[in-house]
Amino acid sequence: MSTKLISLESIFLLAREALLKAGANQEHADAVADTVMRAERDGSHSHGLFRLPGYVSSLLSGKVNGNANPQMESRTPVALHCDGDLGYAPLAHRRSLTLLANAAADNGVSVLSIDRVHHFAALWPEVETLARRGLAAIACVSYAPNVAPFGAKEPLYGTNPLSFAWPRPDAEPLVFDMATAAMAMGDIQIAARDGHEVPPGTGLNQTGNLTTDPSEIIKGVLLPFGGYKGSHIAMMVELLAGPLVGETVSFASKMRDTEDGGPLRGGQFILAMNPEILSGGDWIEQSEAFISRLSKLDGVRLPAERRYINRQNTDPREINVSLLETIQESLP
Ligand code: NDP
Repeated sequence: MSTKLISLESIFLLAREALLKAGANQEHADAVADTVMRAERDGSHSHGLFRLPGYVSSLLSGKVNGNANPQMESRTPVALHCDGDLGYAPLAHRRSLTLLANAAADNGVSVLSIDRVHHFAALWPEVETLARRGLAAIACVSYAPNVAPFGAKEPLYGTNPLSFAWPRPDAEPLVFDMATAAMAMGDIQIAARDGHEVPPGTGLNQTGNLTTDPSEIIKGVLLPFGGYKGSHIAMMVELLAGPLVGETVSFASKMRDTEDGGPLRGGQFILAMNPEILSGGDWIEQSEAFISRLSKLDGVRLPAERRYINRQNTDPREINVSLLETIQESLP
């Protein structure tokens, strides 16, 4: 695999330029390019530049509104809504997360429902932002029916990522962010591109048999992580990020999609909780003792640790040359 070294600033500029050329306005392009750059910085490769051709194609097809103007509404003091105006999620987050954090800081809890949005990124940025405001947070989106519910051989659930963040006064937030599929589709695509096998149990081929060949799984179906337990979490995500927020479940999102190679339209659920109010002020000692004990167990590493280590390195990143070519080919 041939790669090229590109600085983080150049990654941001490359993404922003591509998005502007495809028709996003400045604010929209900045928000998405920043998300792309942060994914590459942290080593979340399946949601960095790899997604740029998809971001571009949905702007070019007109499915995504390059001039989206997301609007916030407080339905109650703790139930906030953001109409994404058919733009990309990072722009909706720029308009909504501070208001969500303020509502949770004042009231102990707040929920944000986002509809009419296209989420094509990792889910840690939104919960990490909230944890840096001293809040615990949970977020999820349902995405593209590629996963067979436990027991089935045909897809119904999306890869349905779920993220969680916990604030730590003197340390980086504790964050996990995971697809509820055995593997995220982006990672399957990267494995197929690079000719790597995936672990057994990741998915089925077109005839419904287990396979470790990612290109066969792309034609067949993914499986949920953790058997029926993971399957039920995927089911919960469908409902929270669909009907609860006024949007569709993933198979219905797919049915109205234009199949331009970019992300489906859908919704997002984000819950913010203020431990200071909910605990009565007595939470730090216990949670820090718990996290400290957890992290000292032999063989354990905290989720997000890998990303935080990557983040400290500000050197240029190695980017796949064929990906750079694909990005250039996707531009008008
Ligand atoms: P991974 O399986 O790579 O990781 C899941 C979580 O577990 C991460 O928080 C990770 O932390 C942590 N982790 C990984 N390995 C270990 C380990 N050995 N010990 C302890 N913790 C570990 O993620 P997925 O493949 O499930 O998902 C990848 C990304 O895809 C996510 O960011 C998700 O949001 C995104 N996605 C987005 C979709 C969308 O529609 N927008 C759809 C589906 C997925 P760390 O990061 O530090 O490795």
